[in-house]
Amino acid sequence: MGVCGVLIYCADHTCSHSISIMADRFADEVRLSDLEPRLLCSACGNRGADVRPSFNWHPKGPIGGMGYR
Ligand SMILES: [Zn+2]
Repeated sequence: MGVCGVLIYCADHTCSHSISIMADRFADEVRLSDLEPRLLCSACGNRGADVRPSFNWHPKGPIGGMGYR
């Protein structure tokens, strides 16, 4: 799919915790929508998350900063 990583946002918008992870740790048959209800926020412990593909993944971290799209 051309997706190298995913961004995961906490479902609780008052928490707004987010992480980015490598997508290749998931098997091909795993759908991101299946993962969402299983995820636990490591910051607030809330279950559920928004998972979005990250097409501009850089393993060493974002280069352009927050303004980069
Ligand atoms: Zn959270």
